[in-house]
Amino acid sequence: MSLPNLPGMYQSGGEFAESRYNVGMKPFPQDQLLQIWAMASVLGLIPAVIAYRKGRSFGLWWIYGSMLFIVALFHSLLIKPKAQPPPLVQENIEPAEPVLPEGTKRCEHCGQLIDALSIRCPVCKGEQTA
Ligand SMILES: [Zn+2]
Repeated sequence: MSLPNLPGMYQSGGEFAESRYNVGMKPFPQDQLLQIWAMASVLGLIPAVIAYRKGRSFGLWWIYGSMLFIVALFHSLLIKPKAQPPPLVQENIEPAEPVLPEGTKRCEHCGQLIDALSIRCPVCKGEQTA
């Protein structure tokens, strides 16, 4: 019984031969990295979908989940759904008294904006007591 001829293994006297993806100098597990990356991308989809359903950015959470799967997963579960913005409440607040320009006042009789030093309103000729 002989071992099947596995390509890339147990050749040249037991030394680990060059793998198919090994282009040169030193062996580098590129296919392993690819597998990890692919796995992370798939796992990252889970928090991405959860976050997306809560109104968050799918793409950002995918990246987040790919890099920090466990953290992103719990984070996505803990975040609260984005509430719809509340309808603008029409508050009937009395408009605040506008600030009068410096050196002016309102006429005691007609309310016209007049010079603060005027003793008589130029509009209604009313006398200013203050
Ligand atoms: Zn006046």
